[in-house]
Amino acid sequence: ARSFEGKKVALFGLGGSGIATARALMEGGASVVAWDDNPDSVGRAGSQGVPTADLRGQDWSDIASFVLSPGVPLTHPKPHWTVELARAAGVEIIGDIELFVRERRWNGSDAPFIAITGTNGKSTTTALTAHILASAGRDAQMGGNIGRAVMTLDPPGEGRVYVVECSSYQIDLAPSIDPTAGILLNLTPDHIDRHGTMQHYAGIKERLVAGSETAIVGVDDSWGVQIAERLERAGRKVIRISKRLPLADGMFADGQDLMQARDGKVSRLASLEGIGSLRGQHNAQNALAAVAACLSVGLDIEEIQAGLRSFPGLAHRMEQAGRAGKVLFVNDSKATNADAAAPALSSFPRIYWIAGGLPKEGGIEPLRGFFPRIAKAYLIGEAAPAFSATLGEAVPYEISGTLEAAVRHAAADAAADEHAEPVVLLSPACASFDQYKNFEVRGDAFKAAVAAIEGIRPIGG
Ligand code: ADP
Repeated sequence: ARSFEGKKVALFGLGGSGIATARALMEGGASVVAWDDNPDSVGRAGSQGVPTADLRGQDWSDIASFVLSPGVPLTHPKPHWTVELARAAGVEIIGDIELFVRERRWNGSDAPFIAITGTNGKSTTTALTAHILASAGRDAQMGGNIGRAVMTLDPPGEGRVYVVECSSYQIDLAPSIDPTAGILLNLTPDHIDRHGTMQHYAGIKERLVAGSETAIVGVDDSWGVQIAERLERAGRKVIRISKRLPLADGMFADGQDLMQARDGKVSRLASLEGIGSLRGQHNAQNALAAVAACLSVGLDIEEIQAGLRSFPGLAHRMEQAGRAGKVLFVNDSKATNADAAAPALSSFPRIYWIAGGLPKEGGIEPLRGFFPRIAKAYLIGEAAPAFSATLGEAVPYEISGTLEAAVRHAAADAAADEHAEPVVLLSPACASFDQYKNFEVRGDAFKAAVAAIEGIRPIGG
């Protein structure tokens, strides 16, 4: 990373991506001083050649930039102590995406850079976009909030395209972000705890598309509608996408078909028919965004359709985990709020629903419309009392406590159901941290519990 050559950079947060970022800076000739609250992380960084020192004892006067790793609180409940130190010393606070963006400029790179944000669907859209590009023979470099740390992506080269998932936090710390194509999928209240108000949260997300050459904006919520209008008034190139409304100008889903309306003409671009990994209306939104981004970097529609068709899907997002008799088991552990659980609940007609964990504001009240599909709910974790109160008389439920008990009980109940395809669905509408390290570990625990069920067979097996 030559754009920081000869400069001194302080860095806090030495998880895997923090260490990778520090090393990339050092390789480019920057001098780095790094720290973490966790002595093990400091030790690991040291053993990989990253200079470490307690940032409290540092002379901040010659530090050019302070790089904060994802996950270190910036503002809430109060700024991290390093943030206060950097502010007091007047040192800029940035994240690794900002480093990536500056490096690109320094390189004068014209390799396309696709950046993706939104409340839900970021990882799916990022992985899908990278998959379509790769299947069309491009060298898709995927990273950011998914996969590799951006500073470890390969340097610009022939056929290379960067596909970067950005959390609001990462956008907040990337003041110069300027993608070739920027995607804002949707905006609903989540993570408000960290960003204060919805207005503020939306403002951060808007910056990603406002800096984009082509702004691809989901207009299925009022925030997106307003943002698209604002960008257009400012003379930006905007592509609107909608998963449900025919648009006069933009791209929209009509059932399984992905349509384009332009210059008064409507045409069919591609179809999601029969693509199991892109089931559900929410995935039409993700697919539209990916298609728009791939078109904007020059792929043709045949290549895009082929890429859509071969997309394997992501683990823990409506992932089919197995079948026992007619009962299907679905792992949607990634659904960490009510909004993210809605797509799965809307995709199956008869559901044995495993929900709970560390509750988010609003609980499962927004999911009331799906209650008639739920044969029974199996509640786990800290959210169980609150969720049982919301379910009340409307839905039969038990407080299962653990995920393992929930899977056993739900499997037995579903096996006795007369319905043609009952589904045991883990779509918790909660964070996992009360019982698990993260949603991946929770999803793996679900799959392990499913694998232990008598008569289980893998999908397609
Ligand atoms: P993110 O990376 O933004 O957290 P993911 O692609 O990992 O999003 O999907 C997370 C969860 O959100 C999944 O459980 C999925 O069912 C749901 N989801 C996926 N795409 C969308 C969308 N476009 N709108 C609403 N929910 C979605």
